[in-house]
Amino acid sequence: MKRNLPQFLTTRPRITPTVKLTISYLALLMALSLILTIPLYRSSTGAADRGLRSERLYFEGANPYSIGPNYQQIELGQVTGFHKHLLNELITLNLLVLLIGGGLSFYLARRTLSPIEAALAAQSRFAADASHELRTPLTAMKSEIEVSLRDPHLPIAGARELLKSNLEEVAKLEALAGGLLRLARHGNERLPLSPVDLSEISAKAISRLSVAAEQQHVSINMADVSGTVLADPDALLELTVILLDNAIKYSSAASEVKLYAKRHGAIIDFTVKDTGTGIAASDLPHIFDRFYRADTSRSKVTPGYGLGLSIAARIAELHGASIDATSKLGAGSHFTIHLRAAGTQPKALPAKV
Ligand code: ADP
Repeated sequence: MKRNLPQFLTTRPRITPTVKLTISYLALLMALSLILTIPLYRSSTGAADRGLRSERLYFEGANPYSIGPNYQQIELGQVTGFHKHLLNELITLNLLVLLIGGGLSFYLARRTLSPIEAALAAQSRFAADASHELRTPLTAMKSEIEVSLRDPHLPIAGARELLKSNLEEVAKLEALAGGLLRLARHGNERLPLSPVDLSEISAKAISRLSVAAEQQHVSINMADVSGTVLADPDALLELTVILLDNAIKYSSAASEVKLYAKRHGAIIDFTVKDTGTGIAASDLPHIFDRFYRADTSRSKVTPGYGLGLSIAARIAELHGASIDATSKLGAGSHFTIHLRAAGTQPKALPAKV
């Protein structure tokens, strides 16, 4: 007959990585402590034995007839007493090492594992977000196709409509895959930095987005862009295109987007400014997070997956630069990259992720 045992007896306790690492550190510490204490015990008891022996020899030499069995008993008592005392001291010392070492090992294990755990959590969050975003257009396409297939007399116009809608979903999937690929590409590369003219980069970015700007009736002004920065030209162009594309997307018709650069010592601040929808203060701290989109009516009708700014932040990071945003809802936004001016000492690049 199968008896129902309590759960804690039937399930094996899960040993967490922190506990495993703590045990490893502690085992190492205890092994070291024992390696030191065993020879210490041996050498101390040996020295004590030798001391007593020479004392005895001296005493025997000086007074040969007064030594009786009593002396040997006293000697034996002294030696075993000393051995015991030393052993107790060393055991206490090792217990202390075990206790303090246990706490220290746990602290070190937590410190070692917490960045790894954070990276793993971010990785699985990213995979979950990416899968969710990929599934949404696929589900839409699947249900449309299923409904159409159930209709035995699907008119040609209906079929065309279905294909058109599916094509839109495929375009979304293509854009998402492109964004994910760009994110992955900027994961581990090391960027070769060279002097890059900001006005050249701005002009290229504007020409790439001229059609989008025209469609939105947005004009772009780059009159105040000057300066040469240390950058990778392709990556800096990609970053500028992301910021400019957003500025156009979130601008109202007939408004102006401005690019300008200002030098502060060794740093050149390169800014993209718009007078569009702006970003709420509650959204601002999150806009550089992957897949984050502010929940505004504009975001709902504007295509995007919330990947652009996270790619922009990664590119800035690979330049040893930072990027920040200031914005006011309804008034517009400024996105500024703080780049190192060419000819100045390059800053150490961040450690590879
Ligand atoms: P998306 O593809 O959604 O534009 P981004 O990562 O580029 O993704 O931007 C994240 C969110 O930040 C956007 O969804 C939008 O809500 C907000 N945002 C970015 N740039 C601007 C801007 N210039 N003006 C207003 N909101 C912006």
